[in-house]
Amino acid sequence: MIERFGAPLVEPIFDELALIGVGLIGSSIARAARRRNAARRIVVADHSMAVLERAKALALADHVADDLARAASGADCVILCVPIGAYEAVGRTIAPALKTGAIVSDVGSVKGAVVAGLKPVLPPRARLVPAHPVAGTEQSGPDAGFASLFLNRWCILTPPEGTDDEAVRKVRAFWEALGSQVEIMNSDHHDLVLAITSHVPHLIAYNIVGTAAELEEVTRSEVIKFSAGGFRDFTRIAASDPTMWRDVFLHNKDAVLEMLGRFNEDLTALQRMIRRSDGDGLFALFTRTRAIRRGIVAEGQETAAPDFGRRAAEADEPAT
Ligand code: NAP
Repeated sequence: MIERFGAPLVEPIFDELALIGVGLIGSSIARAARRRNAARRIVVADHSMAVLERAKALALADHVADDLARAASGADCVILCVPIGAYEAVGRTIAPALKTGAIVSDVGSVKGAVVAGLKPVLPPRARLVPAHPVAGTEQSGPDAGFASLFLNRWCILTPPEGTDDEAVRKVRAFWEALGSQVEIMNSDHHDLVLAITSHVPHLIAYNIVGTAAELEEVTRSEVIKFSAGGFRDFTRIAASDPTMWRDVFLHNKDAVLEMLGRFNEDLTALQRMIRRSDGDGLFALFTRTRAIRRGIVAEGQETAAPDFGRRAAEADEPAT
C-alpha cells in the first residue's frame, strides 16, 4: 500500500498540464502534480472569478486563466475537472485551441454518456482518455483540495476502442505518479460498478436525510442531537455537491435504475424478515455485510477510524 508520495519525478510526464475547473478535484490534481513534478508547467482555468482568485492566492499553478481555450492551447494534456453537465460546452470551447496530439482527459464520475457527449465535439487530432479517480470528499472548491487525496485510491481509465496506446500509457503514468492504482475497463462496466458502490449509496443518503427532515413526530433538534446513531454518516454523504450529483444521476440513469430495482427487492425482503421476526435471517445478512466492511479496511481503502479515514489523510497534509 502506498502511504506517502515518492520523490519528485526527474522527468515530468507532461510538459504542460491544463486543468479546466479548479474545485476539489482540479485543485487536488494541481497540488499532487506539483508535489510529484508530474508536469513541467501547470495551467488552471475556471469560469468563476472567485475560484480563480483563490487559485492564485493558493499558488496552485504557474498560470491561472479565465479563458478556457487559451488555457488549453499550450497543453499536451487537458483534464476536465468540471461537473459532467458542463463537458460538452467546455469541449466545444477548447476544441479549436487543442494542439495536435493533445490528450484530453477528465475526472467525471460517469463515463458512458459523458464520453458519448464529449468525443464528437473534439477534433480528431486530440486523443481522448477518460478517467475517474475514485476518491473525493463531500467538500467543494479550491480550498477543499489536498495533494494526498489520490494516494492509494483507484483511478479507472475507460479509453474508447482504438485509443492511442501512448496516450493511455501517459495518463496511467500520471495517475500512478499521484499515488493511485490504475485499472482499465469499458465505460458501461464502470458505470454499473459505480452505480452500486457510489451513486445509489449517495441517493440513499440524500433520501434518508430528506425523510428525516420531513418527519413531523421527531423534531429537527432531536435529529441533530441524536445523529450519532448512524444518521450522522448519512448526513456527511448527503452534504455532497448538488450540481455534481444532479449531473451524475442524469447521466447514469440506466445503471442507477437497474441497481435501485435490485435494492428495492432486497429492502422488501428485509422488511419481511422484520415483520416475521426472522432474527436468523437478519443476523445472517448483518454478518455478511460486516465481513464486506472488514474486507474494505483490510484492502487499505478505509481505516477502522471514524470519519471514513478522511480526516487522517487531511491531517497529513501540509497547508498549501
Ligand atoms: P467542484 O469542487 O464544484 O469544482 C468544479 C469547478 O468547476 C468549480 O469551480 C466550478 O465553478 C467549475 N465549473 C463549472 N462549470 C464550469 C464551466 N462550464 N467552465 C469552467 N468551469 C466550470 O467539483 P469537484 O468535486 O471538483 O468535481 C468536479 C468533477 O470531479 C465532477 O465531474 C465530478 O463528477 C468529479 N469527481 C468528483 C468527486 C468528488 O468526490 N467530489 C470524486 C471523483 C470525481 P462554479 O462552482 O462557480 O460553477
